[in-house]
Amino acid sequence: MTPAGQIDDDHAVAARVAHQAGELLVDLIRNPVQDRRWSGLEYEGDRRAHRFIIDELQRLRPDDVVLSEEGRDDPIRLERDRVWIVDPLDGSSDFGYSPHWAVHVALVSNGQPVAGAVAVPGWETTWATDPSPSPVARPLDDGSNPRVVVARSRSRFDGFRIQQALGAEIFSIGSAGVKAMAVVRGEVDAYVHGGGLYEWDICAPAAVAASAGLVCCHADGSPLSFNKPDVWSPGLIISRPELVDSLVAALGLGLR
Ligand SMILES: [Mg+2]
Repeated sequence: MTPAGQIDDDHAVAARVAHQAGELLVDLIRNPVQDRRWSGLEYEGDRRAHRFIIDELQRLRPDDVVLSEEGRDDPIRLERDRVWIVDPLDGSSDFGYSPHWAVHVALVSNGQPVAGAVAVPGWETTWATDPSPSPVARPLDDGSNPRVVVARSRSRFDGFRIQQALGAEIFSIGSAGVKAMAVVRGEVDAYVHGGGLYEWDICAPAAVAASAGLVCCHADGSPLSFNKPDVWSPGLIISRPELVDSLVAALGLGLR
């Protein structure tokens, strides 16, 4: 029995918490805090979304531990099976300036995501692991070049290599979650990040993308794992299955 007001499904918890944090952040953009310079909005967003997510997960899943970009890293998480990994505001430099920011909420068990959600209020959508997104439809055998999204900061590195190796069209937008959801939406065929990322950048987007049938791995082709002692992670590829090997090879970091 689930107590009144509780939700017995982890996927639904992830989706609801991410979605509601997104709504809270939209409200902050519409009603910025008085006596605060506009340039401080992202910090206020980080703070409010973090507090909301921590409180909600504490209420809905009181026995679980949370690892948040904006919180203290409690080493007790290394002894626990169920750990929520959250980025309360991903792509904060775009917050208030573009639609390209997101909220990430994922649950990890035994190092692997078992539920997750990415809210992108700028696209008026929250994607989750169940119900999962529709599998990407556009076939790649139509002779067109692959479309690949990379981080703005890495377009001269990752973008150049992939353009050279695959003849790919390269795009850049902010937020790991938004880039991953651009693959889920079928707007691009892959998201590639050849530099370091943190587990909260990767976990929820990879959970959702995997549930849509996409392949998710580190930039060297190695499998993703989470709730590690060091939360730094060696890059990310989220891609249609047929492109992964050539993307890893193009980055030149590969184990495959
Ligand atoms: Mg963040």
